Amino acid sequence: MGQITLKQITKSFGDVQVIPPLDLQIDDGEFVVFVGPSGCGKSTLLRLIAGLEDVSSGDITIDGKNATEVPPAKRGLAMVFQSYALYPHMSVRKNIAFPLRMAGIDKAAQDAKVTAAAKVLNLTDYLDRRPGQLSGGQRQRVAIGRAIVREPAAFLFDEPLSNLDAALRVNMRLEISELHQSLKTTMIYVTHDQVEAMTMADKIVVLQAGKIEQVGSPLELYHTPRNKFVAGFIGSPK
Ligand code: ADP
Ligand code: MG
Repeated sequence: MGQITLKQITKSFGDVQVIPPLDLQIDDGEFVVFVGPSGCGKSTLLRLIAGLEDVSSGDITIDGKNATEVPPAKRGLAMVFQSYALYPHMSVRKNIAFPLRMAGIDKAAQDAKVTAAAKVLNLTDYLDRRPGQLSGGQRQRVAIGRAIVREPAAFLFDEPLSNLDAALRVNMRLEISELHQSLKTTMIYVTHDQVEAMTMADKIVVLQAGKIEQVGSPLELYHTPRNKFVAGFIGSPK
């Protein structure tokens, strides 16, 4: 579960092609970071994988099945939005259970899944609070909890920490890495922050103007950057 293949996918908005033909293989359980400057197409690429945008051409395969025409809710992926996407009038418990309620899962099964997710995320004592009564980091964890209960084949994160202050960001980075260690589910994480990419990724995908400049482990990119752009972006001395 969680193997994603992009085959010659492209995306155009009107006459402007923002993703030229692109191939990428993401393996089961990998923590993959898409990194690159603002406007390089990171969010678009993630939204194409999630199905929130349609590819202009090419194919997306998830766990061996062609998902190109599959609607977002049926792809088995969970997009983690920034913490402000929580429902302010609902308790933490109801926020986390929301996708399960929508799917018509029975109450006992909902409760079991919410309890398990809250435990992993250290939210057990906060289940009856509302989002407004939580810290920024706790709110972000609730947003992640809402993804966990769906037991997705992969988690998709789009700059999830950009609204948090610097100290909290470091903390949440560690928490997301730990979550990946314990769940061992594929995670695709978008950021423009080299430090996040270098500290969190198994595999980094460096993008510039919709094009993949290089794919490799943090060490590979650091020691053997393919060009000046990668070297400069990653902060390699080469
Ligand atoms: P990033 O997330 O790396 O900052 P985006 O994927 O948001 O970049 O954007 C990539 C390019 O596609 C940008 O030039 C942006 O203006 C353009 N773009 C993104 N979404 C749309 C859209 N819905 N309509 C037109 N252009 C878009
Ligand atoms: Mg973006």
